[in-house]
Amino acid sequence: MDRSFLRRFHANSIFHRIRIQPDISQREIIERTHFDKSTVSSIVNEFIERGLVERRAKASASGRGRPTEGLVISPASGLLVGVEVEASKLIYVACGLDGTVLAEQVLPFDGRLDDVEIAITTGIDSVVSLTGSGAKVLGIGVSLPGLVANDGKLVHVPVLGWRDVDILGRLSQRCTAPVYVGNDGKAAAMAEHMFGACVDMDNFIYLFSGSGVGGGLFLDGTVYKGAGGLAGELGHVKIVPQGRFCSCGASGCLAAYLTESALIEEISRLGSVRPTSFAQIIELAEAGEPIVLNVLEHAGEVLGSAISSLINIFNPPLVLLGGDLSAAKPYLSGSVDKALRRLAHPAMYGENIVKFAEPGIGGPRLGGIALALNGVTDIAGSHVLP
Ligand SMILES: [Zn+2]
Repeated sequence: MDRSFLRRFHANSIFHRIRIQPDISQREIIERTHFDKSTVSSIVNEFIERGLVERRAKASASGRGRPTEGLVISPASGLLVGVEVEASKLIYVACGLDGTVLAEQVLPFDGRLDDVEIAITTGIDSVVSLTGSGAKVLGIGVSLPGLVANDGKLVHVPVLGWRDVDILGRLSQRCTAPVYVGNDGKAAAMAEHMFGACVDMDNFIYLFSGSGVGGGLFLDGTVYKGAGGLAGELGHVKIVPQGRFCSCGASGCLAAYLTESALIEEISRLGSVRPTSFAQIIELAEAGEPIVLNVLEHAGEVLGSAISSLINIFNPPLVLLGGDLSAAKPYLSGSVDKALRRLAHPAMYGENIVKFAEPGIGGPRLGGIALALNGVTDIAGSHVLP
């Protein structure tokens, strides 16, 4: 394995441990991570030198004897800013280094590529000032709804029609703080590992829906990237041969049946109701509108079929469904489960393998923060996902 990859993996894992278990001792980190003593010691020292982590005296568990030292995230270390780029809006979050959300704002986005770096960076100063903190911004993470290659270039954004954009270069030129970029699905999977439902899990699959469908394969403690950094396009798993056209250029993709616009189109085609947003679809479902319930049930079957392939290939202990899927849980879960019982291998599918994320926790909203935190604690200095 590449040495710098290994050191980044160690650094991120150690920082993660300190963040989720404040006051942890260096010895406990070694016990929990199984990394060797010299690795843990040199990485902890580097974090302390950079002012990201500090030692703090803690009383011994028995209340007697010498006080021991624990490690904590330095409260004054600085801020992280996350930006989630969606087809029609930009979502900004500012956090402390421990992941505590301090401020949020949403700005409209026209999807134009010409000045995209100006559009994305415009809201950064205002979300920072909303925190009321004078602390320095240590990193800015931008999660993007398309394929982001290892060199920080956006290869393709189907929902916006963008191709081959040097997004990292353009954003870095406009920002004084370091910028980190990544695919939104993989960033959301990292956020679930850092702040959400998968904090102590080394293996899981994350799948979300919104203006697009994306996800991440979190395998053996890290997001799986594939050869060029593009792996995990779970929205473009092929479900229906010669099925509906997808914005990626192919047909029969999961995304063509599950995105907000796909659901709106199908509901409008079948009946007289014409929802204009996902929130309206849920309102209509709550009111018992039969066409909406049927469309969601069918979307659940298609989703269950896609998940069955993922289960059969990866044997994950958990498939976590987020974004709009969380809010649609009451209308999807029955048909998802029915499809899985029919299609997933019974040795690998059972209760609690597929779960819907709690709305608002982890997931896409904190994807940018996950990228920024990952970048700031990345000892090798990479600006793209590990
Ligand atoms: Zn597609």
